Parts: sequence; structure tokens; C-alpha cells
Amino acid sequence: MNYEQPRQVDPKSNSPDAGKWRWTNMRDKKVWASGGCLSKVGEEACPGCGGKSEESPNVVCIDCGSSGKRGKYEPCPGHDTPEEAAQHNWEWEIDHFRLNAGKWVDPTRCQGPKCGRFATAFAKVPGDVAGGYTLCPRHMNTETLRLIHPVSGGSIHS
Ligand SMILES: [Zn+2]
Ligand SMILES: [Zn+2]
Ligand SMILES: [Zn+2]
Repeated sequence: MNYEQPRQVDPKSNSPDAGKWRWTNMRDKKVWASGGCLSKVGEEACPGCGGKSEESPNVVCIDCGSSGKRGKYEPCPGHDTPEEAAQHNWEWEIDHFRLNAGKWVDPTRCQGPKCGRFATAFAKVPGDVAGGYTLCPRHMNTETLRLIHPVSGGSIHS
């Protein structure tokens, strides 16, 4: 299980981000910055193959798809309140929403503001298995998601 929510860096720790809040995930008692509070800053050599799979066709690496590289991620500087951390994650969710992520078998009503047309396509929250919004073609866009997608205080998913 993944437990996503804003968490505070120990205020007594010696790191520069002591007492700051970030959107984090916890799985198997391990905690790390996730969602909006973890951003890609570049690429680094894949630790699985040490970058070797890029040069040598004989090295096959599943970790990096034999590209020899993987994305390098760093946590954001942190926030003063849990609400700000949740907001940061929300911005990231809006940016990473998958529009037309799939289709329902039976048409359901569009969740766009004052719409209610029948639609089958849905948009999906990144990383979250359950979250999705049914939207008609007119509302399948980021502007609509900004209006209807609430800021999450936390979530539990597999
Ligand atoms: Zn952040
Ligand atoms: Zn590799
Ligand atoms: Zn609509």
C-alpha cells in the first residue's frame, strides 16, 4: 500500500529543510518526496548496469530499458505548511493528468461544470489507480480539470 500525504521534515534535524513540509509517499515504512514535490532535474547513469547497456549491445538491462540512463529526481525545497505542499502536488497532478486515458463500456454523464452530456472517455489522475473523471470532448481539457479536481489531503492506494 502507498500512503500519500503531506509530511513534515523533522524540525530537529540538521538539514536545511528541517521543519518544512512536502508531499510524500510511504510504503513499507519508507518515506520519500513524491508527486509535485519530487521533480526531474536531469538524467544520470543507470545504477542497474552502471550505464554500460548504452554502449554495449551485449548488456541487457531491464531497469533502464538498455538506455544506460535514468531520470534524476530531486525533492523541492519544501513548504511552510501542509496545505502548501498539497497545493504543490495539485499543480503537478493537473500538469500530469492523462486526458483520454481510457473509455468506459457504458456511457456516464460528463463531470464538466453544468454539462451532464453522456460520454465514455475519462481522464485519470497520475499514479492513482482509482481516480478518474468522465468528460465529454468539450470538457476533456486541463481547464476543466482545474475547476473540478479538488486539492487532495492525502490518499491510500495500491
Ligand atoms: Zn513541493
Ligand atoms: Zn541499466
Ligand atoms: Zn462535458
